[in-house]
Amino acid sequence: MTATHSTRLLILGSGPAGLTAAVYGARAGMAPIVVQGMQPGGQLTITTDVENYPGFADVIQGPWLMEQMQSQAEHVGAKMEWDHIVEVDLSRRPFRMKGDSGALYLGDALVIATGAQARWLNLPSEERLKGKGVSACATCDGFFYRGRKVIVIGGGNTAVEEALYMTNHSHDVTLIHRRDSLRAEKILQDRLFAHANIRVMWNREVAEFVAGGEPEGLVAVDLRDTRTGAIERLDTEGAFVAIGHSPATELFRGQLDLDRDGYIPVEPGTSRTAVPGVFACGDVMDKVYRQAVTAAGTGCIAALDAEKFLAEADFAAPAKSLQEA
Ligand code: FAD
Ligand code: NAP
Repeated sequence: MTATHSTRLLILGSGPAGLTAAVYGARAGMAPIVVQGMQPGGQLTITTDVENYPGFADVIQGPWLMEQMQSQAEHVGAKMEWDHIVEVDLSRRPFRMKGDSGALYLGDALVIATGAQARWLNLPSEERLKGKGVSACATCDGFFYRGRKVIVIGGGNTAVEEALYMTNHSHDVTLIHRRDSLRAEKILQDRLFAHANIRVMWNREVAEFVAGGEPEGLVAVDLRDTRTGAIERLDTEGAFVAIGHSPATELFRGQLDLDRDGYIPVEPGTSRTAVPGVFACGDVMDKVYRQAVTAAGTGCIAALDAEKFLAEADFAAPAKSLQEA
């Protein structure tokens, strides 16, 4: 029989945004259910050192921080469901969602905290070599490239951190960036430029990943000079694509307005989307800051907005639970 989970507050996503919304939602008596998705704990579970989350004098580990957030949310009464939402109906309340498990989720209010996913270059050779030399997560896969020559593609914080991280495994790390300056924070840039085992190749993009060997794996990349179009080959056995993330919003297309880049627009200063009772927080609505602490901050806002919405909805229809409406 299909399980049905009903709650006042349904939260999609278990990154810093979703889990903070869960802490506030539980403490406000909304008995939230968090549908964790395929990456319980979110993006920070694929990194190591976190130095900029307030409250910790020592460097902490991303997965540890997310375990703490989940424990805190559970401690105050939030319920976790290990499921991934595949269908949503936001046309009426309670909002209805279907999980990959077949379970049905009903929520009087909904907080969307589905975050973002790694972006790829979308080259056929990249697809063919994923897991055979091409990866989007150095902290997950870097170990496999111990002593090998590797490249990291991108110019943001993630790319610089991945390049620095890879020096734990490799003495030959090349950062490939399509422009002549990085967008990463200055402190990270300083560390990168100071590192003897990292070099940067400016104004280059990957034209093709080159396969070879038996069993087949990455053996080189063809790099295109973004100014002249000239192609040169660089030998490498590991390539880490670190070119940013796309918001996980496909699920809501056609039901919620999305902006040009696929993010969920919210009313400025709030987490309110265009659908009353649906709130968005974290990386799924923030294309500018995209930090754990900002995700947590907007998660708090979403829970407070949801609480206010439910209180006003109850006041407007005191005799009937929203779920019966
Ligand atoms: P996410 O962390 O992306 O979580 C999204 C959640 O939604 C996941 O639990 C996922 O399973 C779930 N989900 C997705 N789709 C569905 C669905 N259909 N149904 C149910 N659930 C779903 N920030 C910092 O402040 N400091 C750092 O040091 C730092 N390091 C980083 C290192 C790396 C490698 C990366 C990639 C990011 C880093 N960031 C860092 C950024 C930070 O991780 C993000 O800003 C933050 O995790 C965003 O939180 P979020 O809750 O919005 O989303
Ligand atoms: P990002 O800041 O969006 O940077 C993406 C980089 O990839 C940019 O340099 C971009 O080049 C490049 N790029 C994009 N598409 C490309 C393509 N098709 N081909 C080649 N290069 C391409 O993404 P991010 O580095 O993943 O960071 C995401 C967010 O997480 C940021 O807000 C960041 O601050 C945060 N974060 C924080 C930390 C930390 O605080 N320690 C660590 C990691 C991430 P251009 O520069 O030319 O656009």
